[in-house]
Amino acid sequence: MDKLNELTIEEASRLLHAGDISSLELTEACLRQIEKTDTEIGSFLELTAELAREQARAADTRLNGSDGVHPLTGIPIGLKDLFLTEGVRTTCASKILENFSPAFDSTVVARLREAGAVIVGKLNMDEFAMGSSCENSGLGQTSNPWNLARVTGGSSGGSASSVAARQVLGAYGTDTGGSIRLPASYCGVVGMKPTYGRVSRYGVIAFASSLDQVGPFATTTRGAAMLLRTVAGKDPLDSTSIDTPVPDYVEAVGGNLEGVTIGVPGEYFVEGIEPDVDAAVRTAIGQLEQLGAKVVEIELPHTEYAVATYYVVATAEASSNLGRYDGVRYGVRRGEEDGLLEMYGKTRDGGFGPEVKRRIMLGTYALSAGYYDAYYLKAMKVRTLIRGDFERAFEKCDALAMPTSPATAFEIGARMGDPLQMYLSDILTISVNLAGLPGLSLPCGFDGNDLPIGLQLVTAPLAEPTLFKVAAAFEDATDYSKRMPEIAR
Ligand code: GLN
Repeated sequence: MDKLNELTIEEASRLLHAGDISSLELTEACLRQIEKTDTEIGSFLELTAELAREQARAADTRLNGSDGVHPLTGIPIGLKDLFLTEGVRTTCASKILENFSPAFDSTVVARLREAGAVIVGKLNMDEFAMGSSCENSGLGQTSNPWNLARVTGGSSGGSASSVAARQVLGAYGTDTGGSIRLPASYCGVVGMKPTYGRVSRYGVIAFASSLDQVGPFATTTRGAAMLLRTVAGKDPLDSTSIDTPVPDYVEAVGGNLEGVTIGVPGEYFVEGIEPDVDAAVRTAIGQLEQLGAKVVEIELPHTEYAVATYYVVATAEASSNLGRYDGVRYGVRRGEEDGLLEMYGKTRDGGFGPEVKRRIMLGTYALSAGYYDAYYLKAMKVRTLIRGDFERAFEKCDALAMPTSPATAFEIGARMGDPLQMYLSDILTISVNLAGLPGLSLPCGFDGNDLPIGLQLVTAPLAEPTLFKVAAAFEDATDYSKRMPEIAR
């Protein structure tokens, strides 16, 4: 194979371990692909080519030795630019962190380094992960590899586009309200958000702490499973990380779906859903049935309140989390000669983009005296109802199947003037975050414009093995995941 960057993670891992390819060759193939395609796509905010080559050489030494290899040793990956990476600029796509070089690694990065993975660079995103299109980045523009005039989805847009364009074999992102699943769907790759607490968030720049979760992107379900396994598990540095053993997700995969019940929530086939999306997802559910699954209808009656609830909870938490960017503790300082308050004001006004400011204002308002009960407390109560819907659903089924988004990737610029329209992009992904559940999006077809369509699967907390099993069964029976955008060739 001459284009090593087109390998899946599981194929590359096998070839590396067999000594048939070297990590340096594989890494060079990725770097060439980036050079060839990234001026047009714009996945990367920072390319760490020298670090990657150094890590690849070290991986090759390790692979040629007798001990200490890991399935990800030598595999080139990319990171959404909110994972602290020692000595590598980490910006969260914000001007306020433009020159920020962290003094330590996030646990995700530390575990990747331990595994011997190769870090190729830092990927574009919506500023502070606030957005659904990657257009809110303060530092760069990213295009969908399937059609450069379309958005990648967000907020982990660069993670999805880099994997779709075969610039890296896998990537990590975060999902607070859909930020992994939505761009995975728009870019035609597998994107997975684990159970809340499954992956440590130590050293991951926070947006909304009761919702944020780290997860993988890959071209295949097995690749995503390998990426998740490497970083999941208890971390003493993150008290919200779950202390249960991490299963071998790849082992859980394979076989038919006999004995698996799939629930289909009618509420997720919303009014206004694009006919191509509706048809592709219904066909996919039919295929799951042919693979042996039993399909039942499920009700999630509080779905209609999810977007409103999320935009109270997430903005409230964001307004608190973003307090640290004051030009003293964090953030490029501006206007210090005018005294403390003016310095704060100038720093934040000059450093944050318009969407981040909007979120801080909304969140501060929702938490303020006199409004707390009406907004935040109410939202917390509705959140409990939404979680209850899922608990009842999982008494009747093992996994839910539905669209990831009611539409395929929209045109760049189309929703920038209308924040509400933008927020509604997440209508089908947000409930999963409010309930803390694992969810996965994988390609299940293409629309009339040749844009990918995503099938979303969701399970009960910590039932990731079932999630990967259902996804892999679908993937093995179809070939949507094998299609590559023209630009990647
Ligand atoms: N689009 C949603 C938002 O803007 C979700 C973002 C995310 O998951 N980080 O808040």
